[in-house]
Amino acid sequence: MRDDRQDPAEPNRQRCHPPAPGSPADRRRPASEPRAPGGPLVEIVEAGRRPIILLCDHAGFVVPDAIGDLGISRVNLMRHIGWDIGAAAVTRELATRLQATALFNHASRLVIDVNRRPRTVTSIPAVSDGCVIPKNQHLSEAAVDRRIRDYFLPYHRAVARRIAAFRSIGQIPVLVAVHSFTPHLAGEDRPWHVGILWRGDRRLAGPVLERLHAQEELVIGDNQPYSGQREFGYTITFHAQRTRLPHIMFELRQDEITEQPGIDRYAALLGDCLEPALADPDLYSIFDGDNLPTTGGLRAWRHAGHFSPLE
Ligand SMILES: [Zn+2]
Repeated sequence: MRDDRQDPAEPNRQRCHPPAPGSPADRRRPASEPRAPGGPLVEIVEAGRRPIILLCDHAGFVVPDAIGDLGISRVNLMRHIGWDIGAAAVTRELATRLQATALFNHASRLVIDVNRRPRTVTSIPAVSDGCVIPKNQHLSEAAVDRRIRDYFLPYHRAVARRIAAFRSIGQIPVLVAVHSFTPHLAGEDRPWHVGILWRGDRRLAGPVLERLHAQEELVIGDNQPYSGQREFGYTITFHAQRTRLPHIMFELRQDEITEQPGIDRYAALLGDCLEPALADPDLYSIFDGDNLPTTGGLRAWRHAGHFSPLE
């Protein structure tokens, strides 16, 4: 997400180095991307027919053949700068538990970040957490247009189509975004195990936060590690906040979900916390408040609307 990135004007190249082979950080890294070889960049899993759509924006670290490579090593691509480590595995299990539909974007966020408004500085990052991305430097307008057309719009069109499919039969779907965050950023430890981001509509975030807070061994982030009030990313802003669909965004700390026991544990935890609220038929309705930021006066969903996959 946004604060995993760094202003390209201040690159810190020293932090571009991957963990030493055999170090604890290196051993924890998953050995392979969570995608079948040769599979589509946008994957849709239908684990049931409930009007629940799970969204995993940063599921993989694929750099498509048409791009070749980004000029960074595969080891760097597999760090948190390239994808959301563990998020896809948790999302897959959660979809099964909830009998939901799940969408996965397997192209690396360094190709184009589907959770950023196109043509902003973090959309195709020139630098990410101190790591310079050589092939993202000084891209031509045409190259940026191609990345948007080929790797941004197809995912968002798929999301929009799933939402439209439910709405065409009179159902209001619930959107659940699953992300993960690096435990250390810019020299600071981030203590939260799970964060919930929200702004405006708390119909789902409120009860889920209440249940998470009952887990005494966990540190729960309420609008942490960063705040949904300030920046909610493109996906939830465009597909849920703008249209006032019920929604929630999870941020899971990556070191908790790098191996199967942690993945199982967090899928169960999220499922257990979500299920009572998802069982309430009143949730499946349009929010009657507004989702605008409470400070700053910036109407973020209008900016998101400049790039509508529906047009
Ligand atoms: Zn993410």
